[in-house]
Amino acid sequence: MPLSPNPRRSGSLTDVKTKISNEPWQNYFTVQDTIGRGKFAVVKKCIEISSGKLFAAKCIRKRRHCRDCTPDIFHEIAVLEISSNHPHLIDLYKVFETPSEVILILEYAAGGEIFDHCVGVKDHFSEATTRRLLLQILEAVNFLHRNNIVHLDLKPQNILLTAEGEKGDIKLVDFGLSKLLTHEIEIREILGTPDYVAPEVLNFEPISILSDIWSLGVVCYVMLTGVSPFLGDTKNETLMNVTTGAIDFPPDLFATKDTACRDFISKMLKREPQDRISAQQCLNHPWITGVVTPLDNILPTEENHKDGSDEPTENDVFSNSPSH
Ligand code: ADP
Ligand code: MG
Repeated sequence: MPLSPNPRRSGSLTDVKTKISNEPWQNYFTVQDTIGRGKFAVVKKCIEISSGKLFAAKCIRKRRHCRDCTPDIFHEIAVLEISSNHPHLIDLYKVFETPSEVILILEYAAGGEIFDHCVGVKDHFSEATTRRLLLQILEAVNFLHRNNIVHLDLKPQNILLTAEGEKGDIKLVDFGLSKLLTHEIEIREILGTPDYVAPEVLNFEPISILSDIWSLGVVCYVMLTGVSPFLGDTKNETLMNVTTGAIDFPPDLFATKDTACRDFISKMLKREPQDRISAQQCLNHPWITGVVTPLDNILPTEENHKDGSDEPTENDVFSNSPSH
């Protein structure tokens, strides 16, 4: 069944299959501590009373800047419904609505954000762990892209782990800024977080699935080094570095790393979106597959771009069936 974009809101979905309950959600869940806080949402750990299972309740405010944003929340629910079929995208369990909030009951990712394991920490992920986790992140992003969904807010705060430490697996969250890309619409909007946002987004140029690849290039760099490649002393300096700066691989950060990982990051952080590799091509890159190839053979060739490997497989295509 085809996706139904909302004609009045570019890039938004409207088809929501999950039953939305108007009962108080606290009748069914015991609320524990707050585990996350965004501009319009508070995320609380909770326990389902009937099963004793842990969940995360994302309580999202409907009114923002004097506007009713319920359709935006419905778009987030629709993307979560599509994503619930994938092992590395967070599962949506139930939805409740009050006059002021929508409450999304989500699978609980016990390991928290990868942010705490990489940004500014000396003891960041090893190359082997980065590669293992990045493979899972790429599988999740590739699934979204095959369904024409661009996440647009890929950053370490939105990439969670199922368990503490290096053993956890990836769960991608937060589809609040995501968009459905269709041929009819061309989205030009400033979205995202300065360190991770692609140059075309900052320049009001058309957004595409390749905007996510840029963000993932930055995420990969940060996971490997603990340092953000474009971070300046001020927000403006960071934005300047993103739009003008060439990527640099200082020897003190990269001397001990496989040269294939520099090749991989360089191919994701191309200034022009059309020069970047796709999520599928990332998955096929020797640094990710672990198949050692002489660097000469992994430079972009016409065949690499025309190999047909971007064709969706049956598993990747959105079925539009309710998962709960
Ligand atoms: P926002 O749209 O406000 O950024 P998010 O969906 O990113 O909201 O949630 C905010 C934070 O809450 C996340 O960065 C993460 O730390 C935490 N969080 C969100 N969902 C979960 C979850 N399913 N399990 C555990 N923690 C979560
Ligand atoms: Mg978030």
